[in-house]
Amino acid sequence: MSKAGGGGFLASRRPGVLREMGLAPLWKSRAAAPVERGKEGDRASDIAVMDWDALRCSVAACRACELCQTRKQAVLGVGDLAPDWLFVGEGPGAEEDERGEPFVGQAGKLLDAMLAAIDLERGKKVYIANTVKCRPPGNRTPTPAETAACWPYLQRQIALLRPRLIVALGKPAAQTLLGREVKVGEARGRLFEHQGIPLIVTYHPAYLLRTLQDKAKAWEDLCFARATLANLPEVSSTVSTSL
Ligand code: URA
Ligand code: SF4
Repeated sequence: MSKAGGGGFLASRRPGVLREMGLAPLWKSRAAAPVERGKEGDRASDIAVMDWDALRCSVAACRACELCQTRKQAVLGVGDLAPDWLFVGEGPGAEEDERGEPFVGQAGKLLDAMLAAIDLERGKKVYIANTVKCRPPGNRTPTPAETAACWPYLQRQIALLRPRLIVALGKPAAQTLLGREVKVGEARGRLFEHQGIPLIVTYHPAYLLRTLQDKAKAWEDLCFARATLANLPEVSSTVSTSL
């Protein structure tokens, strides 16, 4: 019997054969997977199951908000994929847009110095991401529509990374992660949580470059973050309280 003949027979009878083999649900889910991609309602649920490769490709090609029109490239994030720490900024600036890596400009130099001050280093148990992956023109604050459009990507990054602690750098990151209005001056020094992961809010390094007198507060916040992490149980289960 020729293979082609056998294949043809199987192909024409596939649903029935597979049902008999007890494989119908598998066949169904495979067949359904590529159907109706790209619909807005499905976008977030598609992103929610992506692995790193899929996420990288999706972000690179994303046109879900207006920022895609002016970016040079989308900037997903950088660092240790099994981190203790996740730092979340606002959005790429000119240098980040050029180089494809977050926090590599002036604010990035200060962030690196802040990390070094608590014995951390970019890429070592540290992952750095942004609230929006594409540069807002002129470094303006991203709009609520833009942060909402990009939120599924950050959510998926958090789910894949499972950091032990999240540090929100500035208001847009804090508001996006906490899902409500936040004043950094009021939120700093408190322990929040996002999806069971402890979350601390501090000033954005670009703000600190303009407002030197708040650098001491950012230092306090980092010490608080370091102490919080040191006191977490080795395998953190849930943290549900706000202090
Ligand atoms: N500011 C941010 O919020 N993110 C960057 O990547 C650079 C500057
Ligand atoms: Fe897509 Fe986010 Fe870039 Fe907007 S900012 S185009 S949602 S990747």
